[in-house]
Amino acid sequence: MMKIDVLTLFPEMFEGVFGHSILKKAAEKEAVHYHVTNFRSYADNKHQTVDDYPYGGGAGMVLKPQPIFGAVQSLQSKNEGQSSRVILLCPQGERFTQKKAEELAEEKHLIFICGHYEGYDERIRENLVTDEISIGDYVLTGGELGAMVVIDSVVRLLPEVLGNQESHQQDSFSTGLLEHPHYTRPADFRGLKVPDVLMSGNHQKIKEWRVKESLRRTLTRRPDLLEHIDLTSEQQKWLEEIRKEMN
Ligand code: SAM
Repeated sequence: MMKIDVLTLFPEMFEGVFGHSILKKAAEKEAVHYHVTNFRSYADNKHQTVDDYPYGGGAGMVLKPQPIFGAVQSLQSKNEGQSSRVILLCPQGERFTQKKAEELAEEKHLIFICGHYEGYDERIRENLVTDEISIGDYVLTGGELGAMVVIDSVVRLLPEVLGNQESHQQDSFSTGLLEHPHYTRPADFRGLKVPDVLMSGNHQKIKEWRVKESLRRTLTRRPDLLEHIDLTSEQQKWLEEIRKEMN
């Protein structure tokens, strides 16, 4: 079972995501155990202060090292010698990708540190964390939403979390390509028709159509992805055909 610890000043924010849908089912199936800690409870000063003014002056408050070091080291010591990935949510971190989600899904213990205010004392970054992750090139008020994004994408990859119905094997990015379009009933919605091939019952033709549409979608929306993937000779032929159709 994977163990996920979250260190935050706002534990209630996680009740929604951990208490619903697939993340909830994953815990019920014992694929994962979530534990959310308010790191304020580790502050060793009288008023349980977790932040302070930056040395050198300037705007905003900075998270102090002591409560976060205390919380992480306490969680690690309870983990009986198993190694932990200590993940700092941070706009300056490595940009989060499906590949990173797959890498983290192999681990047994993840600790997420959610920042707030102006950020963290640099000694936390330098001495405590194994990974710094950014969920995109924009600045959030806190790391909580970032941690939720990362946790959601990791947990759905754990064995037995998704059934066949929701399988992730064909998802966008898992194959290196964007996923093909989907259709469901009715076959004719206000004159808008489902492609004939999908109702033909010819599984080989449907499979081919899906690969071609996946290639077309990737070429039109994310051509950069095609630079990092080895296509079969057949896929390369289809890609050329799509390029010609588009010209
Ligand atoms: N002053 C910091 C900077 O310029 O890099 C930004 C601090 S931000 C207001 C507060 C916290 O939100 C960060 O410490 C981090 O935990 C979280 N955060 C903000 N943007 C994020 C992003 N793109 N990805 C992950 N976490 C983010």
